[in-house]
Amino acid sequence: MLKKLDTENYNVVVVSPRNYFLFTPLLPSCTTGTIEHRSIMEPVRAILRHKKAAVKYYEAEASTIDPDRKVVKIVDNSEIKGAISETEIPYDMLVIGVGAENATFGIPGVREHSCFLKEIGDAQRIRKKIMDCVETAAFKDQSSDEIDRLMHMVVVGGGPTGVEFAGELQDFFEEDIKKLVPEISPRFKVTLIEALPNVLPSFSKQLIDYTENTLREEKIDIKTKTMVKKVTNNTVEAEISRPDGSKERMVIPYGLLVWATGNAVRPIVKDLMARIPAQKDSRRGLAVNEYLVVQGTRDIWAIGDCAVAGYAPTAQVASQEGGFLARLFNNMAKTEAQESRIQELSSKMNLQAGNAAESAEEIEKLEKQLRRVKDIKPFRYSHQGSLAYIGSEKAVADVSWWNGNLATGGRMTYL
Ligand code: NAD
Repeated sequence: MLKKLDTENYNVVVVSPRNYFLFTPLLPSCTTGTIEHRSIMEPVRAILRHKKAAVKYYEAEASTIDPDRKVVKIVDNSEIKGAISETEIPYDMLVIGVGAENATFGIPGVREHSCFLKEIGDAQRIRKKIMDCVETAAFKDQSSDEIDRLMHMVVVGGGPTGVEFAGELQDFFEEDIKKLVPEISPRFKVTLIEALPNVLPSFSKQLIDYTENTLREEKIDIKTKTMVKKVTNNTVEAEISRPDGSKERMVIPYGLLVWATGNAVRPIVKDLMARIPAQKDSRRGLAVNEYLVVQGTRDIWAIGDCAVAGYAPTAQVASQEGGFLARLFNNMAKTEAQESRIQELSSKMNLQAGNAAESAEEIEKLEKQLRRVKDIKPFRYSHQGSLAYIGSEKAVADVSWWNGNLATGGRMTYL
């Protein structure tokens, strides 16, 4: 939105505790060094530098939004703080694009012992831990059980994040670890745990089968219908549903645990939802109308994973919503400028009859433009398809094709 917004028409203030934009779809590749972090980061200030008019940026977290007083409370939660680290920003129009946080479903031990995969810091932590596990396993006189535990990498959640990370991890093993520490490499194992009957539930059936077969060929152990119930510092406790309906509890030792079970609503969004009566039935985020206006408000818009517009929480949706809102705001500014020019011309016409014909002509032209500008169509998401990397240079993709879907998988898809 910021990239496309015509900043000359507004006094824009950006608030974000993270001072860069992050292209999260490539984050799993950062965990093993396939992609360098800098390649998927873009500093906010670098984006702002190219804008026509100055934009204010505060590196701060928006902690609460008061829609009645129309203010946002901001807090500097960075390491270095000045004498003032909390203040308020008044707004006329507010756009919320705070994303979501990691879902843990309140499962004990998850926050303390597992790694998430949402931020650059998470990817760096995972990268460091993988090597630490391998080196600790290779430590002199390490016991056999301990080598197996340390070399066991467990991924919980078989959505695209979990599948892509498991694939990257297995590639890293095949391409690097095998050569670097050949003596213990046969003990390296990746397990993917998913509560539902299959991985990648949002993809077509044939791609699900293809993915599961490919992951098995890559020697990734897939445990479906298995729900993690508890996490300790070196084990996960999971419940497996057997075909006969019985349930079995198992304890799985791990060296590295990556938790990828999807999104949860951020506290600032929850708090705002509680302040707006029209949001009381919304569960997964701020319910918005077809112009992305937060239901029950007139001057708050929401985009991306924190908004519920009827689409999946993906980068593709967020990007299109941002572009749409920029166009909407640019149009609103144009409308206002044209309306005031029309008003100015009509009052001039009444005063000086000489230029009346010229003014009338301009008014007519402006009114025509205004009608075009005012005719803003609601947001319509255009789905281009879904793609997920599944390891060994293969990918699966559901691509929108005319009015149908083209499901493809393999090396060509990845290419
Ligand atoms: P997700 O919500 O898609 O998948 C999470 C999975 O975790 C679910 O299948 C769920 O059944 C499972 N799960 C939940 N609790 C569990 C438990 N206790 N034990 C075992 N399994 C459990 O999450 P995601 O993969 O992080 O994706 C989030 C969003 O981002 C989705 O909309 C996704 O499409 C999108 N995304 C897309 C791509 C891509 O297109 N390549 C990549 C990453 C994310």
